[in-house]
Amino acid sequence: MNDKLSTKLGLWLCRIGFHKYRVIEVKFGFGTAGKVETVECERCGEVTTRRAK
Ligand SMILES: [Zn+2]
Repeated sequence: MNDKLSTKLGLWLCRIGFHKYRVIEVKFGFGTAGKVETVECERCGEVTTRRAK
């Protein structure tokens, strides 16, 4: 698979909601159970947070 094709496939996956997240920050607390991770998609750069167990 060449780079262009894999990039296209990746962006398509992002569009349908399958991002390739990597964890950039982990926070504990907020009075909730568990921890909160800040994650960034390696492909499209979308940043979001998610609750981790
Ligand atoms: Zn993405």
